[in-house]
Amino acid sequence: PPDVEVLGRSTWTLLHSIAATYPETPSRSQQSDLLSFVRLFSKLYPCWVCAEDFRTYLGREVPRVGSRDEFGKWLCGAHNDVNRKLGKPEFDCSKWEQRWRTGWED
Ligand code: FAD
Repeated sequence: PPDVEVLGRSTWTLLHSIAATYPETPSRSQQSDLLSFVRLFSKLYPCWVCAEDFRTYLGREVPRVGSRDEFGKWLCGAHNDVNRKLGKPEFDCSKWEQRWRTGWED
């Protein structure tokens, strides 16, 4: 299986990029697609311990798919949960869009 760190870094890039391109006002079907994606992702992610903890997180914090900003912040919270577990610094979730959509100013 791929290296857990390389897999993680590229997967967060994919997930935050999905948040960044998610509509500001998604339709019902876009919302249900995203919810299905997150749930299926949590079953298929090829780091099994990671996936199991992520499923536990999903049970505690229901994915918020009502808008781009809602989902971006929810995902940031999920990523911070892993950061805490690994002893990495927490990310300021008010800055998720700057990091993943609009780009840093400097
Ligand atoms: P990463 O954590 O990969 O982050 C990449 C970039 O995202 C950072 O440089 C930063 O710019 C930005 N960022 C950081 N935090 C946030 C945030 N909260 N919101 C938005 N952007 C942010 N590894 C394990 O060892 N054990 C696990 O149980 C585990 N579970 C994982 C579960 C999932 C769902 C995923 C996707 C990955 C998991 N990983 C796990 C991998 C781990 O999260 C990291 O990806 C890996 O350790 C590499 O870390 P990194 O320091 O390169 O930065």
